[in-house]
Amino acid sequence: MFLLKSRRERESVIVQTMIKMYCRKNHNSGDILCGDCESLVNYAEKRLLSCMYGEIKPVCKHCPVHCYSPAKREQMKQVMRWAGPRMIFRNPVFAVLHVIDNWTAPKLEKKIVPKSKR
Ligand code: SF4
Ligand SMILES: [Zn+2]
Repeated sequence: MFLLKSRRERESVIVQTMIKMYCRKNHNSGDILCGDCESLVNYAEKRLLSCMYGEIKPVCKHCPVHCYSPAKREQMKQVMRWAGPRMIFRNPVFAVLHVIDNWTAPKLEKKIVPKSKR
């Protein structure tokens, strides 16, 4: 069940939902993602799975390392800017969970590399 998944798993589902919303409306893609958005979904998923912080990952936009390439980071920013405010109307449960997860995510003020990655 969605509520019982880990924060990272929820993040993956929510980010994919937001990219789908964005693509459908901005790229007229219907139910199938356009190439750019599909590549963004795959990229975000890979980053999330290989995140050096694991289950204690911060919110990506506040991450001191930020592992995204500049182009993908910009693409994701556009998606979030557009889809973020619309989530509350289209998918209120996800929107509330996302806000709670963002509040409770660890805040890392400087570049901390987990021991396992040193
Ligand atoms: S941006 Fe930071 S928190 Fe997000 S996946 Fe990359 S390393 Fe992890
Ligand atoms: Zn698209």
